[in-house]
Amino acid sequence: MSFSNDQLERYSRHIILKEIGAKGQKKLLNGKVLIIGTGGLGAPAAMYLAAAGVGTIGLVDNDAVDLSNLQRQIIHQTKDVGKPKVISGAETINEMNPDVKVVTYQEWVSASNILDIIRDKDYDFIIDGTDNFPAKFLINDACVLSKKPFSHGGIIRFQGQTMTYLPGNGPCYRCVFLDPPPADAVPTCRQAGVLGVMGGIIGTIQATEALKYILGIGELLNGYLLTFNALTMEFRKVKLPVNTNCKVCSDKATMKELIDYEQAACDMKPSSQA
Ligand SMILES: [Zn+2]
Repeated sequence: MSFSNDQLERYSRHIILKEIGAKGQKKLLNGKVLIIGTGGLGAPAAMYLAAAGVGTIGLVDNDAVDLSNLQRQIIHQTKDVGKPKVISGAETINEMNPDVKVVTYQEWVSASNILDIIRDKDYDFIIDGTDNFPAKFLINDACVLSKKPFSHGGIIRFQGQTMTYLPGNGPCYRCVFLDPPPADAVPTCRQAGVLGVMGGIIGTIQATEALKYILGIGELLNGYLLTFNALTMEFRKVKLPVNTNCKVCSDKATMKELIDYEQAACDMKPSSQA
């Protein structure tokens, strides 16, 4: 264990936890998390993972910061409007914690690049912070095919949901949701609105899952969908069965290649504007 004095002080509240200790903090410093989308969900997830000392954080996003993002995407500031989100995100993280190496991917994920991005640093855990079904199914399928754990998150209006996929241990996102809905069937946050704090609540739960996975502690949300309603302040944890006919993760899986689904609506960018 070779911590600097600054590190001992910075991470002291982790190190005194018996579940983490110096050994666990080392695991975090050696940990690598890929965050796809630096919007409502990805922004708080990235900031808490950086503060926790996760040593390598990958940020994927091809969008630029828009004024309408700032109501919830707290990694970006007013001065960042117009700047690529991955650059703005990297600057915030670097200012917060010099222990973190940020790897930026200024591109949208697609069937042709997502496996390379996941493999780039051999990430331990992936966080889905995207806002659209094509990206969510793509991330699921890429993680299943490359045997990587990931956290799904979704928010709209006053509602949020999250689940965790662990390879070979519980259902994947597609086991539960099967296929993307028809292109015009589901409103986006841009059309329907979202309470700003929803990204903070769900995104920090996703970050918690990443930390626990790296530390090897506690129980994760594999096999469960956790839903949250901000109006009634109700959390529900619903058990999810494995779908034995799942087309990507089951024994009967037929999907061997990734699919780029059509974008859901003309005004919906494949972005992080969750
Ligand atoms: Zn499945």
